[in-house]
Amino acid sequence: MEQLGDIKSWRRYADEQRARGRDVALVPTMGALHDGHASLFRAAKQSGAVVIATLFVNPRQFGDAADLKAYPRTPHEDAVVAKENGVDCLVEPSLVEMWPDYPEATPTTVSVHGIGDVLEGAERPGHFDGVASVVTKLFSITGLCRAYFGEKDFQQVAVVRQMVRDLALPVQIVGCPIVRDPDGLAISSRNDLLSVEGRAQALALSRSLRSLSPADPASAQRRRLRDVLEAAGVEIAYAEIVEPTTFKACRDDESGPRRALVAGLVEGVRLIDNAPVTLVAQAH
Ligand code: AMP
Repeated sequence: MEQLGDIKSWRRYADEQRARGRDVALVPTMGALHDGHASLFRAAKQSGAVVIATLFVNPRQFGDAADLKAYPRTPHEDAVVAKENGVDCLVEPSLVEMWPDYPEATPTTVSVHGIGDVLEGAERPGHFDGVASVVTKLFSITGLCRAYFGEKDFQQVAVVRQMVRDLALPVQIVGCPIVRDPDGLAISSRNDLLSVEGRAQALALSRSLRSLSPADPASAQRRRLRDVLEAAGVEIAYAEIVEPTTFKACRDDESGPRRALVAGLVEGVRLIDNAPVTLVAQAH
């Protein structure tokens, strides 16, 4: 596995692979790699492409300095996980190359309105601007590629897809399923911050999604989510049913496949989860 740290050699690596006729796959991460990330590496590898993974804890997508500081960093272990799961080139770009003006504000920002303004966007102002800006830069450096993202961050995938469409970026977005621990908890680097009791409480997120019925209107589904989360004492950030591409909140006269998304605080740790749900319109 190659390990690179500067933009010039990263761009050259991708160019050379394409010149040799290889497809390029990009897997952006913030490191502290776990089985969720590994599943993206393996999916990218299985597609036959040469796999470039990036490790960059992007300060622009953290609203809160303490959250950024607490974010786990395990670069040595990450290199092992990447290598064992098919990554051909691991890139760890420097902060000074990615955001030369940091900690001053970067003058250039990519914003995706609508999808990026609700749920996570409303709860964490500026978060998706940070995500869209850094992903645009990763795409600009890598060039023509397929990029793999986890549905664990379902809204993030929708924001990135919209941005790729609007800016005609030469990137095909591939969404990959959520990887869960055997007890149902969606794997996240943040789970390590929970105590044993906190982890048990956190299971309410996936349990709330499993409580959804295949035959209820939106408001009844929302109530199910909230009931399970409240019973477990989770501090709810949101529990919503949305149209999966526009992220418009669903009404009770809608039927068909939609997405349920939940977010909450457990022991001060912000957790998210989501699942597909089918709505049946309320009978009049
Ligand atoms: P992060 O390092 O948290 O920015 O995540 C990097 C990528 O891994 C994102 O596309 C995430 O959606 C994805 N990811 C994180 N956790 C999981 C998981 N449990 N299952 C699937 N993908 C995941």
